[in-house]
Amino acid sequence: MATNRGKFLAGRLVLILTCLAWVAQAQRTRDFSKIEFETIQVADGLYLLSGDGRNITVFAGSDGVLLVDSQFAPLHQKIMDAVAKITPQPLRYLINTHLHGDHTDGNELMGKAGATIIAHDNLRKGLVSQQSSPNPNSRIPTLAKEGIPSVTYSDHMTLHFNGEEIYIVHPAPGHTDGDSIIYFRRANAIQAGDIPSSLRYPTYDVNNGGSVNGMIAAAELLLEMANPDTKIMSPHNPPLATVKDVQEQRDMMIVVRDRVLSGIRAGKTLEQIIASKPTAEFDERRKVGRTSEQFVTELYHDLSR
Ligand SMILES: [Zn+2]
Repeated sequence: MATNRGKFLAGRLVLILTCLAWVAQAQRTRDFSKIEFETIQVADGLYLLSGDGRNITVFAGSDGVLLVDSQFAPLHQKIMDAVAKITPQPLRYLINTHLHGDHTDGNELMGKAGATIIAHDNLRKGLVSQQSSPNPNSRIPTLAKEGIPSVTYSDHMTLHFNGEEIYIVHPAPGHTDGDSIIYFRRANAIQAGDIPSSLRYPTYDVNNGGSVNGMIAAAELLLEMANPDTKIMSPHNPPLATVKDVQEQRDMMIVVRDRVLSGIRAGKTLEQIIASKPTAEFDERRKVGRTSEQFVTELYHDLSR
């Protein structure tokens, strides 16, 4: 009995310390008190709150407020204050594009503020498994039950809200295995999550089911859904992209993937492949976020599996 209780308490302690470690790590890398949100209008009722290179989608109307991604918990009040400047309506829904902490760390506070959280099945599984056996090195936060999605889907779903048809679809596992793309049909705007929507080197979280081939397939799906006027919103800067940007990103991924793959097949080491500069002609336009070396290293590990 005493042993079980001891184990329980030790488990709780690990859980608490992990939460603290995760938040502490995020806080070390950025000073949240200095972050200010700028509001960018994308369409009628549809906005991006942009701050510190990251963007939250706000969709407001007579039914209430829907957010896409919750960012970091310490930013919660600033986010709610920025939403209050757009609308007096209450928070009703939160959709997570994927499970990384810069998209889900604020879930718990959003849940407590009244949001029903929606996400892909695998995203929920990832958050629940981090909850039951926390890994302090994970990019996934450890959340209380209010932060875990209560509505999940496997392939696609539609939410009818504020007179809009919001189509939520799961692409091939690209950035993670629980990605969602969110299409606001009437507004003709897509929140693409960390699928390649902007001119930066993308990341594949191979530990959470991501892969370059999935990312290329996800970009193809995005292009099938979009038309030349579709506004592509991104959780990372630049906040808005065009269909042409996504096409360029897909083409870049195909070229670099093929170069890294032929290097692997020729028996080259990672260092030799990096030295061969497989991203040379793309570097000029991709100077924010990941470096070429980080991108090629992830590709190497992904394609060597
Ligand atoms: Zn991510």
